[in-house]
Amino acid sequence: MAETMHCYRHPKRETRVSCATCGRPICTECMVATDVGIKCPDDARLPRGARAGVMKSNQVVRSILAGIGVAIMGIPVAYVLFLLPFTWLISAAAGYGAGTLINRAGGRNGGPLAIVFSVVATAIPFLVLLAPDLLAGTLNPRPLIAGVLAMIAAGVANRQI
Ligand SMILES: [Zn+2]
Ligand SMILES: [Zn+2]
Repeated sequence: MAETMHCYRHPKRETRVSCATCGRPICTECMVATDVGIKCPDDARLPRGARAGVMKSNQVVRSILAGIGVAIMGIPVAYVLFLLPFTWLISAAAGYGAGTLINRAGGRNGGPLAIVFSVVATAIPFLVLLAPDLLAGTLNPRPLIAGVLAMIAAGVANRQI
């Protein structure tokens, strides 16, 4: 049983409900039902973008770990991609998947930091695979464009809605 709290806007009113965003207790009169749970009027009023992109430190750590995972797993994935038809399309889809993974690891906040992690994590496998061609100056545009598309898609997956 949750302990009894008092509405932060009405200190005399008891409540067991708290805001899904800030955790402050709110009474039934103050609470606002949103698609992501019950919120206080302050947080319900804000557009999602105003709060998105602010990750807690543990979410940042999880995002980085997910990014490292994506970077490592992405090397064989990108290798296979280059051999497949529709490389650009599949690369974009894979990039979007990678971005979504990192987004979820970061508590679905999205935002600039998540975009950077996702784009960098997605770029690493392509850089690793294309480095020999890059250094030799024989880089084909096809895999390069695939990499760029994957990076854009990874960034798009973390946009703030
Ligand atoms: Zn709140
Ligand atoms: Zn209240």
